[in-house]
Amino acid sequence: MTSIHILFFCMDNRLIPHPAWVEIDLAQFKKNLSTIKKNILSRLFCLCVKADAYGHGICEIATAAEEEGINYLGVACLKEGVELRRYGISTPIFVFGAIDERQIKDLIKWGLEFSVSSKFKAELVAAECAKMKKKCRVHLEIDTGMRRTGVRPETAVELLPWILQNDAIELVGVYSHLATADQPNDPFAMEQIKEFKRLRERFGKMDLIWHLANSGGAAFYPDSHFDMVRCGLLAYGYFPGKIQNPAYEVAPCFSLKARVSYFKVVAADVGISYGHSYRTNDQTRIATVPLGYGDGFFRSFSNRGSVLIRGKKFKIAGSVCMDQFMVDVGQNEVYVGDEATLIGTQGTETITLEEAAFSAGTISYELLCSLNGRLSRIYRK
Ligand SMILES: *Cc1c(COP(=O)(O)O)cnc(C)c1O
Repeated sequence: MTSIHILFFCMDNRLIPHPAWVEIDLAQFKKNLSTIKKNILSRLFCLCVKADAYGHGICEIATAAEEEGINYLGVACLKEGVELRRYGISTPIFVFGAIDERQIKDLIKWGLEFSVSSKFKAELVAAECAKMKKKCRVHLEIDTGMRRTGVRPETAVELLPWILQNDAIELVGVYSHLATADQPNDPFAMEQIKEFKRLRERFGKMDLIWHLANSGGAAFYPDSHFDMVRCGLLAYGYFPGKIQNPAYEVAPCFSLKARVSYFKVVAADVGISYGHSYRTNDQTRIATVPLGYGDGFFRSFSNRGSVLIRGKKFKIAGSVCMDQFMVDVGQNEVYVGDEATLIGTQGTETITLEEAAFSAGTISYELLCSLNGRLSRIYRK
């Protein structure tokens, strides 16, 4: 009885949410999709929604993308694909990376497209399809230089015809992944594109989707677009490196916010938070923000990250705790309930995702997908 009661309690989403949340501007997200669509040369556009759509919320983002007529959704594992199907998403879903043979049956059952990157697994897939009397759709992965997954080009030359002649498997696409496309004119990225083009020419005009470009490829290497691009970061409004391409008029649609939960005046020369790694200079005002590394807000923001309150930027004071951190606001006025922005804009001040990630010693990608499900997501249309 008790455990049922607890379960019910945990799942009750009518509770007033904790005052630390992520805000997603869906209208801006949709604008990003249309500017990408306008710029790419490929006929198809795959949106990467792995890792909870880079922290934006996989089901809501997939729904918005479906409304915009996205052709494909890209995920990294079976579980993510199933979550989308259970939610009612009917767009083709492609699961990246090497498959675990124990998941083949479920991948087929849930109508997910997936990678084949060895003869061994291709045979297992064919056997499973025959057993289930169900045809499955696969993409052959070729390693052109990322050296993560995918068969060597020489192997692809043998494996591709083998898959084509196998009735149980439908070969839908051939793909590879760029390792160094974060900025323009990278010689290795150009090598990879050349290699991929060679392979495509070698197989002639078959009705297959050839895809290579990630966000960097989409933004900086039109030659890499082929039949489909696979964009993650760019669709969420960020460029993968320091350089931007102004033709892609994307903007972030993600903000991280919380409400000040406590406020006090402390004396000069006292320590703040665990380990007292921050000490006050003068008598000062300390605000507490109810969000911490338990929400995925890195401990490495301690004494390095910033926060906006009442349109002013302040440094985080002392160690970030599991659920809270403190800010030294000096002689400024701050009240309990004030909105604190950790990523985003207040008035004329902005903390960009890139700047926040840099202050924690990481990259935008990692910060976005570490902010976890304890933070509620609020969607603005
Ligand atoms: C994650 C991923 C992408 C998207 O990368 P972005 O840099 O976010 O655009 C594309 N393709 C594959 C295979 C991936 O794993």
